[in-house]
Amino acid sequence: MKTYKIACIPGDGIGKEVVPAGQTVLEALAATQNEFAFEFTSFDWGGDYFRQHGVMMPENGLDALRNQDAILFGSAGDPHIPDHITLWGLRLKICQGFDQYANVRPTRILPGIDAPLKRCKPQDLDWVIVRENSEGEYAGVGGRAHQGHPIEVATDLSVMTRAGVERIMRYAFKLAQSRPRKLLTVVTKSNAQRHAMVMWDEIALQISKEFPDVTWDKELVDACTARMVNRPASLDTLVATNLHADILSDLAAALAGSLGIAPTGNIDPERRYPSMFEPIHGSAFDIMGKGLANPVGTFWSCVMLLEHLGENAAAAALMAAIEQVTANPTLHTRDLGGSATTADVTQAVCAQIAQPQAQRKAA
Ligand code: ATP
Repeated sequence: MKTYKIACIPGDGIGKEVVPAGQTVLEALAATQNEFAFEFTSFDWGGDYFRQHGVMMPENGLDALRNQDAILFGSAGDPHIPDHITLWGLRLKICQGFDQYANVRPTRILPGIDAPLKRCKPQDLDWVIVRENSEGEYAGVGGRAHQGHPIEVATDLSVMTRAGVERIMRYAFKLAQSRPRKLLTVVTKSNAQRHAMVMWDEIALQISKEFPDVTWDKELVDACTARMVNRPASLDTLVATNLHADILSDLAAALAGSLGIAPTGNIDPERRYPSMFEPIHGSAFDIMGKGLANPVGTFWSCVMLLEHLGENAAAAALMAAIEQVTANPTLHTRDLGGSATTADVTQAVCAQIAQPQAQRKAA
């Protein structure tokens, strides 16, 4: 029997509620079969750790994660610590330290979810957004000078490398090729950003030649927001820069019904390092500790984690269990208009997982 080592980093706010919930459903899944088990190690990094130690995670923290098979992450954010410290000190430190250059965000309208686009049938919205996760606008290159003086200057330089763009384009084309519609939209802004984004477009064209069976088009990022709302079925797989995809995927999550549902994976496609899976929502301090957090985004992230480990049957079983639960409005949390708690949803998903397969299909 295989044992997968999973690092759990709940982080801050509702991360401390949804990550243990994710661990519970993974354990329930492991209990249904004899092929694999999980060994979880929890790390108490985040805002509280910062208050004690002055850093979000230890200097050698990456070494503790290096030999794990995957990481399940909650969220990083604290009302008393500047956002750039919580973000760069933990989540980005792991993403960049482990060169998790592909951030992958599937979006679908799950059964039972009342999504805001009334003209859109659930089957019309089935996207995967691939976000460049290692450079671009969030490369961290820039600085400030003359601080506090009238001539103060601040820069954030967007850095795109040919190698960085080629690898994310190749990943996106490959992902599009693996999906039934074999359709990729390359999001760009080369009309206004006339250097790096023009190279981005050129590289898209170059890589497309390796994937003759993938149909692809280009869309300006601003036009893409309107297309997501007006013509959702015209999109399937999208690839965009770090900043553009950051924004588009929050829009995608909202169009799918709630921020609480959406998952993401920070992937090292070459598998040199562990990849990290997390719900896309933040720490949501307004609801923390009240049992109101929707754990579905974390459960869907666990599905992605299982797929990454190659446990496709278990991933499909978990996704089916999630969809059975979302289909039942009495199991909706407050963000979806219901009154179920994090624990109610977690127990319901575990109960679905524990049902024999035949019964689950019939349910
Ligand atoms: P951060 O600064 O860490 O990004 P935030 O509070 O600014 O956090 P989010 O955590 O992403 O932003 O959430 C915005 C709002 O969406 C929250 O105030 C919360 O009400 C709601 N929300 C987010 N995630 C969930 C969830 N899993 N379940 C229920 N509501 C959620």
